[in-house]
This record gives sequence, structure tokens and C-alpha cells, in this order.
Amino acid sequence: MPNLVYTKAPSCPRCTENATQIVAQSPVAGAWTMALCPTCYYTWRSTEPDYAVKREAMSKDFYIDPTKIEKGRVMPEIPPLRT
Ligand SMILES: [Zn+2]
Repeated sequence: MPNLVYTKAPSCPRCTENATQIVAQSPVAGAWTMALCPTCYYTWRSTEPDYAVKREAMSKDFYIDPTKIEKGRVMPEIPPLRT
């Protein structure tokens, strides 16, 4: 199976953001590239399995609605201050 190397940043498989960036390339030229989504911060290497790089093969449980990111809870939760 030939390796997939992104020639331009793909859309994010988790949130469909189109303004992703190529942030790393393999030390051996042409082996893989890594993309980053600036909206949900998902990062993925081009050679990962389809379930990690293609939206249609990814579990819908892993999808992120960008409009709901701000409503997510803080992880890890910050405990109340001790008095
Ligand atoms: Zn994303």
C-alpha cells in the first residue's frame, strides 16, 4: 500500500474545518505528513488508518460540533479553593 502524503492540508475529519495546516513532515521525504486543525486541535498523520483520517470512516461519536466547543467542560476539572 503506498503511503499517502498530503500535498495540501486536508479538511479536519472531526469538525470539517477547512483551514487546517501541515505542521510536520517525515524525516525521510515523502513518507508522511502531519496535519493540525486550529479549531478542535485534532492532529493526524497521513498514514494513520482510515478511521483516524477520513470522516466517512470515523465513528460519529468522535465528531465535534465546532459551535459546541466553548460549552465543553474543563478537563481536568479545577477543584474549589481550599479555605
Ligand atoms: Zn477539527
